[in-house]
Amino acid sequence: MTNDSSAQTNYPNVTVDATPLSIDTEQTLVQVLSVMAIAGKSYSLVYSRSQPSTLVGVFSYTHVATAMAAAVDFTQATVGPWMTPLAALHLWPELTFTQSSPFPQASQAEPYQPLVDKGGHWVGLVTPAGVYGHQAQPPPCLKLSEGLKLSEGETPGQWPLAQPDQPLEPCQLLSSQLVQQQERLSLALEGAQMGLWDWNLSHNSIVISDQLEYLLGLGPGEFDGHYDSLFTHVHEDDRAELQQALAQSIRFGQRYQVEFRVQSASGQTRWLSSRGQVFKQNGSPYRLAGITLDISDQKQAELELKLQTQRERLLVEIGQRIRQVLDLQSILAQTVVSVKGFIEADRVIIVQCTPDMSGQVIQEACASGFPAMMGWEVRDPWSVGDKFLRHYQAGRGLAVENVYTQNLPESQVLFLEYFQIKAQVVVPILQEQALWGLMIAHQCAAPRTWKTADVRLLQSLAVQVGIAIQQANMHQQITRANEQLKRMAYLDGLTQVANRRRLEQSLDREWRRMGREQSPLAVILADIDFFKGFNDHYGHQVGDDCLRLVARILSRAAKRPGDLVARYGGEEFMILLPGTDAQGAETVAETVRQMLHSRCIPHAASPTNKIVTMSLGVASCIPSSEITPQQLVKQADDALYQAKQQGRDQVRLAPK
Ligand code: GH3
Ligand code: MG
Ligand code: MG
Repeated sequence: MTNDSSAQTNYPNVTVDATPLSIDTEQTLVQVLSVMAIAGKSYSLVYSRSQPSTLVGVFSYTHVATAMAAAVDFTQATVGPWMTPLAALHLWPELTFTQSSPFPQASQAEPYQPLVDKGGHWVGLVTPAGVYGHQAQPPPCLKLSEGLKLSEGETPGQWPLAQPDQPLEPCQLLSSQLVQQQERLSLALEGAQMGLWDWNLSHNSIVISDQLEYLLGLGPGEFDGHYDSLFTHVHEDDRAELQQALAQSIRFGQRYQVEFRVQSASGQTRWLSSRGQVFKQNGSPYRLAGITLDISDQKQAELELKLQTQRERLLVEIGQRIRQVLDLQSILAQTVVSVKGFIEADRVIIVQCTPDMSGQVIQEACASGFPAMMGWEVRDPWSVGDKFLRHYQAGRGLAVENVYTQNLPESQVLFLEYFQIKAQVVVPILQEQALWGLMIAHQCAAPRTWKTADVRLLQSLAVQVGIAIQQANMHQQITRANEQLKRMAYLDGLTQVANRRRLEQSLDREWRRMGREQSPLAVILADIDFFKGFNDHYGHQVGDDCLRLVARILSRAAKRPGDLVARYGGEEFMILLPGTDAQGAETVAETVRQMLHSRCIPHAASPTNKIVTMSLGVASCIPSSEITPQQLVKQADDALYQAKQQGRDQVRLAPK
């Protein structure tokens, strides 16, 4: 401000604004409003965007009010159509410059200098060509001395002179308009939930608007103007960041923008966004002013969006895990851990329903300090009972905020208290339209109002778990079928001992193993005596039973882990005995012969004995390159032939 004292004397309430605010025509009303609020100005000079940019008009709160009355969209409408263009300004011929004029001569560098009244409201423009205002005549309070006239030959500037028929508006009317504009502005700021603040750095006093007091949770006039007390309302986690932003702004003369939380005395938390800038006088900062907006709704929406994204990611992750991992228990174990962490529950369990519709806890993730439920049978009122089971069977879930407000019988309350359950969500896990089990989240520390989104997440996860169970069941069935097929491929169907294919593989493997170890490998060939006659006499069925019995006897006799009993063909069996010499094998063969004897299976058709007997040939060698496995088998076969020849029902050892 210049020459304040003389302006105060002769032209009360009017000064030249030394720090006018400049904007451009393309800025939106909302941008301009916020810039004006930040700068604490009630008007701004509007420049064209073209280069060099020239002054094209003035925009003030009057125009804000007009635009509001026209219900324009402040975020879209630009300032151009709403400002007062220079062409609409009128020269005040009495106000010309002399050395004695309180108004500074407009310089070449700054040809336009705004005149403002005491309230900072724009009333006119000082230009090299004279003083211009909105009205044809200056308001009476601006009447100047005789000396202020346009010099002869001077042009009045680039805009037209006053229209002679324009009525003169009294100064009082102007100030009442300003009051109205002020009121409209505060309404607009209130509507936008925008608070203003102005920090005088030299006096270290802060003035804040009523709206900002409201945002801070204070009543009108309650704020004491101190920097420190302003910060007592700021959330303690955000204080340092806000202080740093303001300090930076003062230090570097830059704008600041910061988001922080405030906490009202009632404990309500609000998110605010503050932006503003530092204003300098004679090169040093003297004032920091800005606007503050309530962005709680936006923050809440952002948080919800973030949570929703996380929920979706969790679903995808668990879905992927289900596709990759077929082990149901590990899927369930990871699911309860993920869910517990995500919805911040104190315990998450999976209950598997038994056919009688009681349920057992088969998975659990539980926060420390609360009793574990793993393995327990669940008897809480929402997991048992026909009414709820029907509800779950229909795929619906249930959320209980507080177990104590449910009028439960004492026994059930005791059960819930034992596990400290205060609130819970139950969602069904379905399998082919039947209730397989329940996924339950517990809150133990305190009752809890469950978010719909969290309940939905649990439901979606329960559907995924249902898919995992189905997949795991299918996998189990396939695994069983494969094992069965494998067994079938190597087992003799009638006797369930190894078949010929398995025998050959084992003989080959054991031959090489014993060769490496230089240990003996023995084979016993055992053949039922006169079995043709047995079949003929008792029939094929009884013959089959006899074969099964003989196979069991052989398996019992050859009991070491590496021993193998195989059906060699018809009624002939082979026993492979790794690490067994001829004497050892002979003992096994003799045991077999005697075990069969002791069973006394009648054989009426036998010409020698009236019970079923066997002849056994035994051979053993340490595998080497001088002999083949087939030759060893041949030796056993020869010994068997000897046993048959010499009267059957005996063991014969192959000659060395
Ligand atoms: P030997 O004492 O000389 O061994 O006389 P054998 O009658 O036992 O010998 P042979 O080779 O003449 O007859 C074998 C019989 O075993 C022929 C067949 O009736 C019977 N047999 C072979 N495989 C099976 C089978 O899977 N089931 C039944 N029930 N009988 C079988
Ligand atoms: Mg036989
Ligand atoms: Mg035979």
